[in-house]
This record gives sequence, structure tokens and C-alpha cells, in this order.
Amino acid sequence: MTVVSKRLSLATKGGGDCIDVTEQVRQELQASGVKNGTATVFITGTTASVAILEWEQGILEDFRALWERLAPQDRPYQHNIRQGDDNAHSHARAGVLGQSLVVPVVDGALTLGTWQRIVAVDFDTRRRTREIVLQFMGE
Ligand code: ZN
Repeated sequence: MTVVSKRLSLATKGGGDCIDVTEQVRQELQASGVKNGTATVFITGTTASVAILEWEQGILEDFRALWERLAPQDRPYQHNIRQGDDNAHSHARAGVLGQSLVVPVVDGALTLGTWQRIVAVDFDTRRRTREIVLQFMGE
């Protein structure tokens, strides 16, 4: 079995900024030489997530609006009160959405559906540089 790990660096704007990383994952998969197995996509940090979304502007806007309804920014969160921080809603959103996903790799390709894109989501309240860890496992 082969295990290949790789890091991607991403500049984000925060505020629910979505970045399509599908092509970078594809390129790194090809470079890894793994033909059958799994691709794990993991983002470090507690205010960012990875998700699979269709890349359509209406969906991206609806997605951002959903998080404002689920965990509104303007609430008296304990994290902000105790730590003097302003991003408790970002931690809550990232905790729900999660930091990793797995895509099966078959015959050298990601088995994504036609409209599925791998998207990094930054919920923080400011610009950040994010690290995505990719791991390809298989043969
Ligand atoms: Zn915080």
C-alpha cells in the first residue's frame, strides 16, 4: 500500500468564503500515483471546514445564509465573553460542518459526481492562510 501526504496553502477572506480546491486535489492525486484507494481532505483549524457543494453562485449564497440562521453572528456567545474574541459563531459553524472528507479513488480518478466540488469554507472573521492536508492511500 502507498500513502502520500501533501499540504496545500490557501489564502481566504473569512466570513464564509468558499474556495474550490477540486482541481488541486486532482493534480495531487495524479502526482501521488495512487490508482485505487481513498483521498482524504482535511483542513487544519477550528474555524474552517471542508464540504462537497455544487459550484453555483445561488447555492453558495444560500449556504452562507444557512449558517447565519443556524449560528447567527450576533449572539452573546460564551467564547466571545470569556476570551474577548469575536468568532464564536465561526467555531460553532466549523464544529458542525467538520474538518475532513473522504473521496474514493477508482482507476486513478476521484469518484465525484458531475456537480460535486470539494470546497474549503472559512468561517472566521478575518483573512487567513489555511492549510489543507491531503492524504492518498491505496495502490
Ligand atoms: Zn475564537
